Amino acid sequence: MKSLLRLLTLAVLGAASACAQMSQPMIDENTTKISDHVWAIMGFPNIAIVVGSHATLVVDTGLGPKNGATVARVAGKLAPNNTKLFLTTTHFHPEHAAGEPGFPPGTILIRNVVQQQEMEKHGQEMINRFATFSAQNQELLGGVVLRPPDVTFDQQATIDLGGVTARLLWFGGAHTKGDELTFVEPDRTLISGDVVQNKTMPNIFGDGGTPASWLAVLDKVAALNAEHILPDHSAPGDGSLVAAERDLISEVRTRALALKSQGLSADDAGKQISADLKTQHPDWPNTNAAGFVKSVYTEPQ
Ligand SMILES: [Zn+2]
Ligand SMILES: [Zn+2]
Repeated sequence: MKSLLRLLTLAVLGAASACAQMSQPMIDENTTKISDHVWAIMGFPNIAIVVGSHATLVVDTGLGPKNGATVARVAGKLAPNNTKLFLTTTHFHPEHAAGEPGFPPGTILIRNVVQQQEMEKHGQEMINRFATFSAQNQELLGGVVLRPPDVTFDQQATIDLGGVTARLLWFGGAHTKGDELTFVEPDRTLISGDVVQNKTMPNIFGDGGTPASWLAVLDKVAALNAEHILPDHSAPGDGSLVAAERDLISEVRTRALALKSQGLSADDAGKQISADLKTQHPDWPNTNAAGFVKSVYTEPQ
C-alpha cells in the first residue's frame, strides 16, 4: 500500500499535462454537478469526474474509444490546468471500461485486482458480444484492444487529487465479482456503479456475486455514510439510496425463497415478483426481477 501511495503521489506530481491538449467543446447539456468536486456526464452509463486542484479522476469510460475521448475531453474542460488524469472503472463491462483507448497517453489506469482478473477472463468476449448488438456498437467497439492497468489494488487505494481524496474500494461481489466503489471526501459522494442504484431492480451478471454477497457489500457501503450517490444506470440521489437498495434486495430475496419453498419455478416467481414490483412502484424505470430471482434460486443456502 505504501509503495502504491508513493507511486500515485509521484504520478500526480508528474509535469506532463495530458489534459491541456483537449480543446474541443464540452458537451454541457449532459454534464451535471453532483457535489463540490464531483461532476457527472449523464448517459449510458453515467460517468463521474472528480476534480482536484492538481489531478482529475474519471470513473468509467463509455462504450468504445470514441466515447472515451469525449469523456477525457470533458474532464479536460472541467480542469484545464490539472497535470494528471486518473481513470478507474466500476466493473469490466464494455460500456464501463472499453472506452479506455480513447483516453490520452499518460492517463493512469487503476482498478482492483478482482475486476482485472474478470477483465482478462471475460473482457474481450464481452466486447465481441456487445459489438454484435447493433451496427453502431460494431463501429464503436471494432478493433478495441484493452491495455493492462498501470496500478492494481486489493481492497482499497487512495488518490489525493488536491483538496479532495478519492478512495477506490473493493468490498466483494455484487453485480460482478470486481465491482468497484469510489468514495470522495470531503464531499461524502459515493460513485456506486451497479451496486447501489435508484428505482432500479438489481441484476447479477453471470457468476458475479450472490444475493448474500451483495447484501454484505451494502453493509460495508452503509458504514461510509455517504451523502450523495451517483449510480451508473439511474438518477443521482442522497445517502438513503443505500438502505433502499438493501431493503429491495432482502425483500425480493425473502419473497423468492418463499415462492421457491412453495414449489414455484424460478421463471414463474420472477414474473410474479416483477408484476408486484411494478404495481408497488409504477414510477420505476426498471422493475424486472426475473434475473435476480434466478440468482436467488441458484444461491447456495
Ligand atoms: Zn454491468
Ligand atoms: Zn452497465
